[in-house]
Amino acid sequence: MAQGVAQDESKAAAKPDERARQLLDAGIAALGGLERLRAASSVMINYRSVQHPPGQTPVFNSAPIDTPVTNYRTMIDYAGQRYVSEATLNFPTAYSLANRTVITPQRGFIIDPSGTRLGNLVTSLLAPAQGPIKFNLLLEVPHLLLLNMLQPADTLRFLGEQNFGGHTYEAISFDAGNNAPIKLFFDPQTKLLAGYQLNNVNPVLGDTQITGIYSDYQGVGGVRVPKKRRIYWNDYLFADVDYERVTLDFSAAESLLDIPAGYAPAPVSGAAANPVRKLGDGVYLLDKLPGGYRVMFVEFNDHVMVLETPLNQAVSQAAIALIKKTVPDKPVRYVSFSHFHFDHSGGLRQYIAEGATVITTPGNRAFVEQMAQAKFEQRPDALAQKPRQPVIETLDKKRVFTDGTRTVELYQVGPIPHAREMIIFYFPKEKILFQADMNSVSETGEMRAIIENNRILLRKVKELKLDVDMLVGVHGPETTWQAFTAAVNKQPAGSKQSAKR
Ligand SMILES: [Zn+2]
Repeated sequence: MAQGVAQDESKAAAKPDERARQLLDAGIAALGGLERLRAASSVMINYRSVQHPPGQTPVFNSAPIDTPVTNYRTMIDYAGQRYVSEATLNFPTAYSLANRTVITPQRGFIIDPSGTRLGNLVTSLLAPAQGPIKFNLLLEVPHLLLLNMLQPADTLRFLGEQNFGGHTYEAISFDAGNNAPIKLFFDPQTKLLAGYQLNNVNPVLGDTQITGIYSDYQGVGGVRVPKKRRIYWNDYLFADVDYERVTLDFSAAESLLDIPAGYAPAPVSGAAANPVRKLGDGVYLLDKLPGGYRVMFVEFNDHVMVLETPLNQAVSQAAIALIKKTVPDKPVRYVSFSHFHFDHSGGLRQYIAEGATVITTPGNRAFVEQMAQAKFEQRPDALAQKPRQPVIETLDKKRVFTDGTRTVELYQVGPIPHAREMIIFYFPKEKILFQADMNSVSETGEMRAIIENNRILLRKVKELKLDVDMLVGVHGPETTWQAFTAAVNKQPAGSKQSAKR
């Protein structure tokens, strides 16, 4: 009896963090042991991968389309805290998006090695942005992830047995400070790290649980490294990642640590001084918003209309602040967006919270309703704090907004391969066309990759008999319609230079 009590007491007295530490140590032993893990702190991994992004399909509720990821590799020197990651996303109905991310103790930056989308711009990564990126890269490499967990061990918690993908695993949690807390699941027999779970807030889907599952562990230089990682957003398979080649070697990254010749940091001074550009009477362009997407707005006699809602709440907050500064006494009554793709619709909830009427296409009504109802409990946004039903109006082919002085015309030009429903915005008086994803102008003004979307835009503008002087893109600076037409006509359909976004 007394013995039983003593046992219970010892169980109760066992600190959860000690048991977490024991499991973490067992996990480290299973991957090769602390000494070997430390000796293997430089890695280069070449991947083969396909993503299935839910927010890039032609219709919001259709089956995902595969997006192959090429030139995909990650190089980490964990001891030296140097990280290089490269990948090209080959969207089947847009142009390819290449990026290289570099973080060292001295600097952090992102460039587009192809130049297609960002030209030769350099995006600086300041310290607060670096942490989450580094942590996400560590998630690719279990042995470095576990080494990382040895650092601030005070946030380690033992969670006991937990169900993970239908099986029972032993779990610990860890507060990484970024996407925290993350849960790690260990195989109860082998103690191999089976996967992780962390919470994320997607601007469209709301609270999202991200799950990574490692499998097919192999030996590389005395440590165990998975051959596969699958990433889920809730129950939705977001990406399949194959570890094609793993070497314990960082040397290939050395030449990539500096900003390459010909690349220049984005100019900030003039931009910060003039974030609102007037393109005509009452017609404005916001081209310095965080994230680099463009928004236009129109000042009508007693209200404002906003065109395009990129990325997330933070971008919309920045846009609304600039709009209210420019037009202090008029409410945002209408908001519209080109197409539902999450990078173009992610800022919509902020406008719904503001009470703006959403102008969209019939097929996206349900999308807007779903988005407005998504759960944002982890980090309540403006709409979660003051929930309201969205007011939605749709257009089939065309709708004109005018107060007699200023006019903007909305045209639905879909179906196109990129999206079944796509709105373009035309200002007849100013002869300006504002659109998304149908131009191919890089952020530095070149048209390097002509894609099918560009030819479609030329055809649609001709069919609709729009008289365009200036083409403004959600991506890319203004170009003359003449220059755009000439560039597209130089690369006819089927020619080899054509590239995908
Ligand atoms: Zn798109």
